[in-house]
Amino acid sequence: MTFTTRFAPSPTGPLHLGHAYSALLAFDLAQAAGGTFLLRIEDIDRSRARPEWEAQITDDLRWLGLDWPHPVMRQSDRQAAYDAALDRLWAAGMLYPCTCTRRDIAAAASAPQEGAPLLGPDGVIYPGTCRGADRNGLRPRDAVLRLDMARACTTALTFTEEGVGQTGQITTMPAQMIAEVGDIVLARREMGTSYHLSVTLDDAAQGITHVVRGLDLFEATAIHVLLQRLLDLPTPRYHHHRLTRDEHGKRLAKRDDARAIALYRDAGETPQDIRARVGL
Ligand code: GLU
Ligand code: ZN
Repeated sequence: MTFTTRFAPSPTGPLHLGHAYSALLAFDLAQAAGGTFLLRIEDIDRSRARPEWEAQITDDLRWLGLDWPHPVMRQSDRQAAYDAALDRLWAAGMLYPCTCTRRDIAAAASAPQEGAPLLGPDGVIYPGTCRGADRNGLRPRDAVLRLDMARACTTALTFTEEGVGQTGQITTMPAQMIAEVGDIVLARREMGTSYHLSVTLDDAAQGITHVVRGLDLFEATAIHVLLQRLLDLPTPRYHHHRLTRDEHGKRLAKRDDARAIALYRDAGETPQDIRARVGL
């Protein structure tokens, strides 16, 4: 299988140094392996994604010297695939509708004897309030659907990590998924999908063999491996990279617009200067 990787920006803001590092690293690894670098636009969040950001991001990536095959996959074109996967999980009894508000969840998750709500890779660990909801009949549309983790995860999950930090075979046990991840949301009302579901399906649809992305997503990878299992999809290798830091060693925030590549471009920097800034 030829090495295939991708850069998957969400067009909700400018391309900043952290993104540039991720994209350049993925591109360089693909070049070194004689493989392919793909671009994917993660625009499932219709309330925040903007065509102007997509245009700016693509322009910045080209300026950095990156190139990729066309057409580019766009998540907003992929709802049919997301629906098919949700139908399959629903038919298997793995999903249930959840009508809790954020407030309900925070209140139930921090019941007095339990202290502060536990956080997992997908936010507050869901206390299971709606687990008994009706799972029969047709899959509800325009509903929040959660994955019943205890039902979905019954065997150990394993993937190969080739990046920084922990490397080698990473294994997560079902008990850990249930306690530390919980019943995650796979379909949001306003999106009809979720980051985890879309990213897993899209990586498979694009034939990604190596996922190169930031260490901030390392903890989420077990969720993706679980979804691959449930949906009979291959598990790629993972390369989680260090997160870029500013000159004070502070991690760059996702929306740290002061580090927008466009600003460095306007100031007369070259793609080589950007590479030097991110340590490539
Ligand atoms: N769209 C995600 C982001 O911008 C990237 C997801 C991934 O690489 O798996 O953070
Ligand atoms: Zn609920």
